[in-house]
Amino acid sequence: MVDFGIAGKTAIVCASSKGLGFGCADALAAVGVNLVMNARTADTLAQAAHTIRDRHGVHVIEVACDITTEDGRAEILAAAGHVDILVNNAGGPPPGDFRDWTRDTWIAALDANMLAAFDLIKGVVDPMIENKFGRIVNITSGSVKSPIPQLGLSNGARAALTGFCAGLSRQVARHNVTVNGLLPGQFNTDRIEMLIANMAKTEGRTPAEVRTTLEERNPTGRLGEIEEFGFACAWMCSARSSYLTGQNILIDGGMFNSTL
Ligand code: NAP
Repeated sequence: MVDFGIAGKTAIVCASSKGLGFGCADALAAVGVNLVMNARTADTLAQAAHTIRDRHGVHVIEVACDITTEDGRAEILAAAGHVDILVNNAGGPPPGDFRDWTRDTWIAALDANMLAAFDLIKGVVDPMIENKFGRIVNITSGSVKSPIPQLGLSNGARAALTGFCAGLSRQVARHNVTVNGLLPGQFNTDRIEMLIANMAKTEGRTPAEVRTTLEERNPTGRLGEIEEFGFACAWMCSARSSYLTGQNILIDGGMFNSTL
């Protein structure tokens, strides 16, 4: 059996009561990582943490707070103490027409999808360097590689985080601290349901019709499942992935059509 080499380590997994964040938390727990899980809604978070403790027997701390606030991030870092692995995640920005966006709209998107991650990285990276082990994974989006017209806020804010991390990854690699991005295509989560509903409204079709189109367009004939995302995260965070850094890996069932 392959040992991921991270059993007993501690990971903060942001925005992890549901969806892709939960998939990552569950997969890390399956290879023995203790967790600090976060989401805004305490009930759902408690249920998710209970499921993971039950399945894997790891230690899970729950921090119910908004990751986009300074106070929330301070609470998470204080609860975690020593951190070996940081998985950055937050809710995605709303779809819309760029003509309607103001400076405040952009600041909110940057707060959620760039600055929250930046701030947490700043909070954990020096102790990781000292400890000669660190894994930082940003859950971003396929939009980093292939822009999505109605998600301009995602295209912009996530590209900014990706650019910053491209530089950072080279500054810390010498200390066995890696920084990588995981880029989801379309996965079966609440977020995709919201986007499907929005597309259906805009296009005058039913949500079921939009879903079928999305599934048919994908080379796999379906949308992704959170477990398929989570295990890529666990691999990226493993002790064996120490030579993988500054990379952005798209997990989209082959939807983005390119040779490389
Ligand atoms: P999801 O199923 O809607 O789950 C979002 C999770 O994040 C929930 O646990 C939610 O709990 C938590 N959350 C949301 N805002 C938060 C905040 N401000 N502070 C703390 N926790 C927060 O979403 P998902 O599909 O997993 O998406 C995760 C990220 O990947 C998003 O940024 C999304 O845009 C991106 N993405 C998703 C897809 C996809 O196909 N699913 C594709 C590309 C990119 P609470 O509501 O209780 O806080």
